Amino acid sequence: MLPSWIKKRFPPQEELENMQLLLRTLHLHTVCEGARCPNIGECFRRGTATFMILGEVCTRNCRFCAVKKGHPAPLDPEEPRRVAEAARKLNLRHVVVTSVTRDDLEDGGASVFVQTIREIRNLLPGATVEILTPDFMGNEKALLSIAQVPPHVFNHNVETVPRLYREVRPQASYNRSLRVLELAKQVMPGVFTKSGLMVGLGESREEVISVLGDLRSVRCDIVTIGQYLRPTMQHLPVARFVPPEEFKEYEEVAYSMGFRWVASGPFVRSSYLADAFFASLEKG
Ligand code: SF4
Ligand code: SF4
Repeated sequence: MLPSWIKKRFPPQEELENMQLLLRTLHLHTVCEGARCPNIGECFRRGTATFMILGEVCTRNCRFCAVKKGHPAPLDPEEPRRVAEAARKLNLRHVVVTSVTRDDLEDGGASVFVQTIREIRNLLPGATVEILTPDFMGNEKALLSIAQVPPHVFNHNVETVPRLYREVRPQASYNRSLRVLELAKQVMPGVFTKSGLMVGLGESREEVISVLGDLRSVRCDIVTIGQYLRPTMQHLPVARFVPPEEFKEYEEVAYSMGFRWVASGPFVRSSYLADAFFASLEKG
């Protein structure tokens, strides 16, 4: 039985249809659908989505994630342009782009992020851009290439506490993810860096606070903390539903450490209300 604060009304199909039609017409994928995000009704109704590039099949096997896994199809050279076209059709002010992980590609797909940012800037010059990237296997050249077209927000999620990596993100490395955030800040000092983690996977309160400290130590500006929800029975079970007051405590601790923006709550996802957060951050 789910606790009362975790219940969310599933949106009627017709509320999703306009967005789904646009995405199908342009052969685009979103993490909203791929990862079965619980906020999909709210975000699609607001006309926002997080585009997922580099195809829809991931080369990793994180045990919390519903994105398809396996051998990806070859890259589609038209994908960056179609993402920009969809963003223009939706008249987005803040475009969020993420990807599957592509460890099969030499640059991890960084060049496609670069092309996508360029296409968005061409078609929608007034929009701000947020990218949520994989770790590119720690490839520094890949990150340097992104610095040629710096986004407004560079996001890379640590996802969980280091003790749980083997179980939750077996092909990832906590230190490598921190290094990605550190390097992003070094090579793009004017860009907001952002990270996020899920709670409810078996971590302790002290471990969460320690991750927040690690993120600040690499000068991460924004953090998101949300409840892990099991997408299917094949994924890791929820260890605990974190009560709203604990999310509030994480928010207060994070602000006291110096984060510029903190979103902490049961349904927070790294791209949840990203446009609204960015707008308020810019206002200072
Ligand atoms: Fe999902 Fe990202 Fe892990 Fe791939 S690397 S399985 S997309 S969380
Ligand atoms: Fe998509 Fe992010 Fe909204 Fe979820 S929170 S539906 S991933 S934009």
